[in-house]
Amino acid sequence: MSTTAFDCKRCGHCCHGEGGIVLTGRDRQRLAEHLGLSVEDMLLRYAEHAGEKLRLRAGEDGFCVFFLQGVGCGVHPGRPDICRAWPYFRGNLVDRASWEMIQSDCPGVASAAGHEAFVQQGVDYLYDNDLVHEPGTETPRALVLTEALKRRRRS
Ligand code: SF4
Ligand code: SF4
Repeated sequence: MSTTAFDCKRCGHCCHGEGGIVLTGRDRQRLAEHLGLSVEDMLLRYAEHAGEKLRLRAGEDGFCVFFLQGVGCGVHPGRPDICRAWPYFRGNLVDRASWEMIQSDCPGVASAAGHEAFVQQGVDYLYDNDLVHEPGTETPRALVLTEALKRRRRS
């Protein structure tokens, strides 16, 4: 039996920094419903354009606009797919060196479990939670899996 490869410690590191939280159409709908707003109002208040994509704004402290210090994500049930998927991003799944690098920022990644367990548990998690995306203009690239990763899906 393999060790758990990831267990979030709620440190908030992954909610810091601008630009990473891209909103898909499904994300926009889910987040707006969670906040009790129309999609248009939610976007006006909390999102900004980044090229062809829409992303969540950051606050003056550099954290996501929904991050609450000492609490964590303020919209947890309504958070976007990219937040649900972290740290199981394609780059961390295909590249052992990336997996090693993120361990200094994300204490939830268990190095003792090894990269192989991280990959298998990650692929399973992404499919179980409907987080695997196909390429598209609004799709976060980190959620588009390689064919080799897709073949790792357990049936
Ligand atoms: S950086 Fe990792 S451990 Fe910290 S809140 Fe984000 S996912 Fe959880
Ligand atoms: S939506 Fe929540 S989980 Fe995602 S970056 Fe913002 S505070 Fe963090």
